[in-house]
Amino acid sequence: MANNSPKYIILLGAPGAGKGTQATILREQLGLAHVSSGDLFRENVAQQTPLGVLAKTYMDKGELVPDDVTIQMVMERIARPDCARGVVFDGFPRTQAQAQALDVALAREQKHIGAVLLIQVRDEILLERLTARWSCPVCGAVYNRLTNPPRVAGQCDKDASALTQREDDKPDTVRRRLDVYRQQTAPLIEYYRGKGLVRQVDGERTIEQVTAAVIQIAQTL
Ligand code: AMP
Repeated sequence: MANNSPKYIILLGAPGAGKGTQATILREQLGLAHVSSGDLFRENVAQQTPLGVLAKTYMDKGELVPDDVTIQMVMERIARPDCARGVVFDGFPRTQAQAQALDVALAREQKHIGAVLLIQVRDEILLERLTARWSCPVCGAVYNRLTNPPRVAGQCDKDASALTQREDDKPDTVRRRLDVYRQQTAPLIEYYRGKGLVRQVDGERTIEQVTAAVIQIAQTL
């Protein structure tokens, strides 16, 4: 890394662009905390917390969970000690209000976002990827029937659990999520371009090639 100050990196891109996959690798290779708002919501849904019960009503439709609860949940997460060494944000921020809340929270601690990595993938490929995505309900490992299949069909490589499909990866909900991305999240590209933070990454290459590009940028920060 270029220096030892904490790195705050945002992975921006449509659902299915590979943000979660790359964030997991960045966590392992660079020692950053991985903050995924989608994972935080799914944990709350699994534990049936009041936040999870509320979030599920939006997630099942492919809509965004309201900003106030989302911002509060992520702010509590980034206050935890593992985030002091730096964070890779995956799926947050997704609206202008969330982006501004993050700016304010980081500035309060004299921290700032190092880069916004825009992972670009065409819509037809996103649709194909998301509807072929299966994951392990136990360890969270993500597979793709077409591009990254498990060694044994339907079974997790790591713990042999039966793989499941996310409710919101069903085709109609996927289409809604892509619309929501275009309408509510894509405008953030201009927001961060205005701050000179956006770095484009071709997300249609192999996982390893995308990782190499992402790590190369992260190491310059
Ligand atoms: P993801 O796993 O990032 O695709 O998120 C799954 C779902 O969780 C989304 O479709 C939203 O319903 C909800 N969600 C995740 N992150 C956010 C966010 N930053 N703002 C609002 N809703 C979110």
